[in-house]
Amino acid sequence: MSINQSIKPYTLEEKEHLFLGGCDLVDLAKKYGTPLYVIDEATLRGICREYKKAFKDYKNIHMMYASKALCTSAITRILDEEGFGFDTVSAGEIYTVYKSGVDMSHVLFNGNNKSTSEINLAIDFKVGRFSVDNFYEAELLNKIASEKGVRVDILLRVTPGIECHTHDYIQTGQIDSKFGFDLSQVDDIVTLIKDNYKNLNLKGLHAHIGSQIFELKSYYDEVDILVKEIARINGKFGLNLDEMNIGGGLGVKYTDNDAPPSVNELAKAVTDAMEKYAVEIPTIYIEPGRSIVSTAGVTLYTVGSSKQVPNGRKYVAVDGGMADNPRPSMYQAEYFAEVANKVKSKDKESVTIAGRYCESGDILIENVELPIMKAGDVLCVYNTGAYNYSMASNYNRVEKPAMVLVNNSHSDIIVYRETLDNLISHDNIPDRLRKYD
Ligand SMILES: *Cc1c(COP(=O)(O)O)cnc(C)c1O
Repeated sequence: MSINQSIKPYTLEEKEHLFLGGCDLVDLAKKYGTPLYVIDEATLRGICREYKKAFKDYKNIHMMYASKALCTSAITRILDEEGFGFDTVSAGEIYTVYKSGVDMSHVLFNGNNKSTSEINLAIDFKVGRFSVDNFYEAELLNKIASEKGVRVDILLRVTPGIECHTHDYIQTGQIDSKFGFDLSQVDDIVTLIKDNYKNLNLKGLHAHIGSQIFELKSYYDEVDILVKEIARINGKFGLNLDEMNIGGGLGVKYTDNDAPPSVNELAKAVTDAMEKYAVEIPTIYIEPGRSIVSTAGVTLYTVGSSKQVPNGRKYVAVDGGMADNPRPSMYQAEYFAEVANKVKSKDKESVTIAGRYCESGDILIENVELPIMKAGDVLCVYNTGAYNYSMASNYNRVEKPAMVLVNNSHSDIIVYRETLDNLISHDNIPDRLRKYD
């Protein structure tokens, strides 16, 4: 089984308590407080190696970790050590990657509305590729590059028109999408680049068809469209495009209802689709995000109040919720959890795990069968490595949780818990409103 097909990180042990990376999760909750994001280094590195191994027969493949799934300085260090490049979408991600010592030629800058200052920063930091999303950006990027006297390597982000069955908000490759050039616009943009945008060096095409994808056919179709389109452009314009970025999107198993393909199956789908064509696309980029970090992460919460609705369901509230994990309220995402200090308990009941935030929609898990919980118990929610911390907010003026990395019975803080002073550190009281000097 591939790690992305498991709900739990692979070093998880079920003793009296749950253990991850050799660390007792109940002890971690005590030591660092809750909510607490915990990342298992062995699972993270394991899946990186699975990806590399799965694609090993394809020489010129570049693994670009989609930073938006989870971007902190220690995580980018690990991905860099594992030989991954980085797909970035903001100055903040570029800066994080840069400061963690990554070779910036391994970085791609992607996004549908990059600002002038972000483009300036990306050029100054010498990111390896820009994925140009639209006509406005092409003109702006060319202008900034020419002012700086440089020529930047670009891919064109295109919308291949593939409907993959995932949540509407995380589907990006269908025809009516805010991302990328429609295929009918490709000739116009290629003509502009060839004739007018001398500071853009077009290397190939980029697409990303969605996220939490379970159907391999979507990847076959995508490669098929991209390969044909590159061959067509090369033929028509006398160009030599030789790069293809197929994006990310491989699904993970949040609950038993999810059956994502393995990393090997993904690699085979891509390689098979490539082999169908005589044309050579020497360089391929793949940009997994969720499937790299999701399973490596769990979140620990402390149980507080409970409420039995008369003739209704029972709510158990934890000390976190939609601000540290917005996915259930945003996408109706489902999660699985266990009680870290009641692994062996046979007394179970069906409960709904509620968050502590002031929204009725702040529910983490609906109707889950768990040991009977009381205040002080430690709940472990699985598969929170991706799109939890990276989407976290300070809603209700609550401090963002800490994050620890566990490995070989050792734990290290990789993100400090925010403090109350952190929360007010960007506030300013205008002089006329000040009470004290
Ligand atoms: C979000 C995104 C990814 C990563 O998607 P996952 O589902 O997390 O693998 C890759 N490429 C692009 C362009 C993206 O926008």
